[in-house]
Amino acid sequence: MDLKNMKRETKITYAEPCKNTGSHIQPLYQTSTFVFDNAEQGAARFAGEEPGYIYSRLGNPTVRCLEEKMALLEEGEDATVYGSGMAAVSASILAFVEQGDHIVAQQCLYGCTHSFLSEIIKKWGIEVTFVNDASNPENFKNAMRPNTKIVYIESPANPVMQLTDIKACADIAHENNARLIIDNTYMTPYLQRPLNLGADIVLHSATKYLNGHGDVVAGILVGSKEDMDTIRMTTQKDLGGITSPFDAWLMQRGIKTLAIRMKEHEKNAMEVAKFLEAHPKVKTIFYPGLPSHPQHQLAKEQADGFGGMIAFELHGGLEAGKVLMNNIEVFHLAVSLGTVDSLIQHPASMTHSPVPEEDRRAAGITDGLVRVSVGIENAEDLIDALDRALKLV
Ligand SMILES: *Cc1c(COP(=O)(O)O)cnc(C)c1O
Repeated sequence: MDLKNMKRETKITYAEPCKNTGSHIQPLYQTSTFVFDNAEQGAARFAGEEPGYIYSRLGNPTVRCLEEKMALLEEGEDATVYGSGMAAVSASILAFVEQGDHIVAQQCLYGCTHSFLSEIIKKWGIEVTFVNDASNPENFKNAMRPNTKIVYIESPANPVMQLTDIKACADIAHENNARLIIDNTYMTPYLQRPLNLGADIVLHSATKYLNGHGDVVAGILVGSKEDMDTIRMTTQKDLGGITSPFDAWLMQRGIKTLAIRMKEHEKNAMEVAKFLEAHPKVKTIFYPGLPSHPQHQLAKEQADGFGGMIAFELHGGLEAGKVLMNNIEVFHLAVSLGTVDSLIQHPASMTHSPVPEEDRRAAGITDGLVRVSVGIENAEDLIDALDRALKLV
């Protein structure tokens, strides 16, 4: 059976039963190491002359199932899995840069990705140019240098929901022999497949929609077999930020319902966004599914949907936002996103507090911005909860 030609929903759900036992769900290989038949076999595995498992930092059958699933969904050749989205960020970037190299990144990024690029990596003599307005690909082009090795983007960007033209950025990167790495956490492969638009590596915080149930922290990379092998043999092997077999097993369970979850997230987000847009206490709202979003057209072109994330600002600014967050029911006041239940948080003091104030402003993250991750509850209850809390603002 060729899953590659099947529809997205089938690719997401279907998994081969276990060949040895017929177990419908793949077993959990909760083991750190693998026993060799003899000394010659052990040596052959280390030499790469014989396939087979050695040690779970280098590979594990449960993790392998997840890698294959993610390669299938993102339409890439191979994937690697990490203990957090941030471990995936460092594993992908550090595998392809050395002292004296240069990276072009958009200014509005997940907070810790921004601080990794602006604080950590410069200690190794790697320069980063941040592009303030990522909506215009020309700004990426102008930032390129002969020693640029990576263009790093996020679309839609966390938290302001600004879109970046993936295909245009891939072309700009490739003209300079650089790689395009894109964080696809907000969209998931159900809604957006950046490798088909020319990206070289797709990155996920699998903590979010992929796992979907709020009980795992993990990261995933998908790309060519060559790039994944390079990463496996360098930053995965020697920095070691891998996931546990149990978390990989939970993620496979989570991914099985990705399609129906994303449909519900999006349906609810659209209703919540429309409600907020029409509410007199809401000053601005950022949701690519609204025709008023400046990049609504691009969202329709490069993705199959708009996702479940919304950001907005109240007329009363930060103070009003605090009243909302402290009084709202149904939504949990918590960072993270992409879980089945709705979450609300304040980027400037929470997820994006690692970003220096000046950079936050340049990225459009105002102090009054509130971010919601719309869950799969009944939309009416979400809207009623917002309505009640906004009355107190
Ligand atoms: C959460 C998040 C990350 C970091 O992932 P962790 O799993 O928390 O390490 C990276 N990018 C985006 C867009 C995120 O939302």
